[in-house]
Amino acid sequence: MKTYDKLYYDGQWQEAKSDDYREVINSANEEVIAKVKSASKEDIDLAVQSANEAFDSWSQLDPKDRASYLEQIAQGIEDRLDEIAETVVLELGSSRDFSQSAQAQNAVNEMRATLKDFADFSFVDQVDQGQVVKEGTGVVACITPWNFPLNQIQRKMTPALLAGNTVVVKPASETPLTAYILADIIHQVGLPKGVFNMVFGSGSSVGDYLADHPDIALISFTGSTEVGRLMYQKAGKGIKRLVLELGGKSAMVFLEGGDLEAAVKQAADTVLDNQGQTCSALSRLIVPGDRLEDTKAILKDYYQDIQVGDPSQDGVKVGPMVSKDQYQRVLDYIAKGKEEGAQVLLGGQAVEGPGYFIQPTVFTEATNDMTIAREEIFGPVLTVLTYDSVEEAIAIANDSPYGLSGAVTGPKDEAFEVAKRLRTGNVNVNQASRNPRLPFGGYKESGFGRENGIYALDDYLELKAIFE
Ligand code: NAP
Repeated sequence: MKTYDKLYYDGQWQEAKSDDYREVINSANEEVIAKVKSASKEDIDLAVQSANEAFDSWSQLDPKDRASYLEQIAQGIEDRLDEIAETVVLELGSSRDFSQSAQAQNAVNEMRATLKDFADFSFVDQVDQGQVVKEGTGVVACITPWNFPLNQIQRKMTPALLAGNTVVVKPASETPLTAYILADIIHQVGLPKGVFNMVFGSGSSVGDYLADHPDIALISFTGSTEVGRLMYQKAGKGIKRLVLELGGKSAMVFLEGGDLEAAVKQAADTVLDNQGQTCSALSRLIVPGDRLEDTKAILKDYYQDIQVGDPSQDGVKVGPMVSKDQYQRVLDYIAKGKEEGAQVLLGGQAVEGPGYFIQPTVFTEATNDMTIAREEIFGPVLTVLTYDSVEEAIAIANDSPYGLSGAVTGPKDEAFEVAKRLRTGNVNVNQASRNPRLPFGGYKESGFGRENGIYALDDYLELKAIFE
């Protein structure tokens, strides 16, 4: 077991001034793999102070120089992809393939996509005789979840730093080791001191204190809607800017005339990969009533080859839930689905331990008012819903407190029209591959603000009008 005692601020690794450690678990075997020292209030004050002191010069640096640092960080991540992926497998439990591609390589791809468009970004707009000058907001608190331990940080750090802000990152307690590697890469790149800082520790103490800090100008939070509400209050108290990337309960709408097998597999993959711990997971599959039996047959056939087990092993797609809490939460939802009358088509049980494994589960004969169709389960659970008319399908998809993501599979023009009517920040039509230049974020209780691509910069910029 490794012990991590340091935090990163003022351009250096610094001994944390507390006696508090948090354990990191390998949830495939429940062994403790590391312990990480938490930041004290004094550490957080020093990290924020260091970010504050660095803001002036970083915000005035030529944007091309800021981009050059970010390019070097992207390269540094790419050089350590294997190490990052192995760490994600260990501390999060995603499969090896998923950790390599969707967790590690994707972060590099997204950074490079933003940098490409940033090359044409103008920080000054001429409007008649006046100028609109865009400048950084100040020190950004980046508070991130465990489900994509590298990329959730990247999605905040990249636009925040490019826009001229400095950052203090508080990664999730379950997955600090991947974040450690990122801080080390940034240290090797030699970013000016204070521009990037990282403190570890629990959300309820370290995250809470950081978000409340008077020198934080903007809170950029990704996580649950519940904690998001708390961030709203904190931002309100200090009149701080706020970016919220919260939960989701997204739908795949299948339209007659489309490829049913492709639609079913796409939705299933989003609740199988990463054990369904993905905010944009298409956890509600909405099909015409007369295609329910075909849908069940496709699911049974697809799931019989899905391997659940140690995520470090080749061929395994579904690893363990990240933690015992998450495992119990998902099992409670499965129990609730049964209790409320949905039918278990597949799975429905925990897998015998050790490890926090759950059988990939599919519910049918469900209705959209059931808990399993309304609340974010964040596990390998798919709920199949049926409709009689396309209008009803759209209404079911939109009947959710969330509005993060969605998908439509069907004849091209019709699918596009339905996509336009979904009240979500993203819609995937006919299994299109994701373009990292496009923005990502939610409507309704999924939050506000956008990540990815050049659109993300808007959230981190102040606009100043200068009249001449
Ligand atoms: P979470 O419990 O809300 O935690 C997210 C982060 O907030 C963690 O770093 C956590 O620290 C910290 N935190 C917790 N309580 C806090 C407090 N009182 N003050 C300040 N910080 C606090 O969420 P999670 O369980 O890690 O992540 C799962 C959720 O994230 C899901 O709802 C998922 O949909 C959402 N998510 C959304 C997106 C998106 O882009 N919309 C992307 C990914 C995930 P600790 O780790 O120490 O608890």
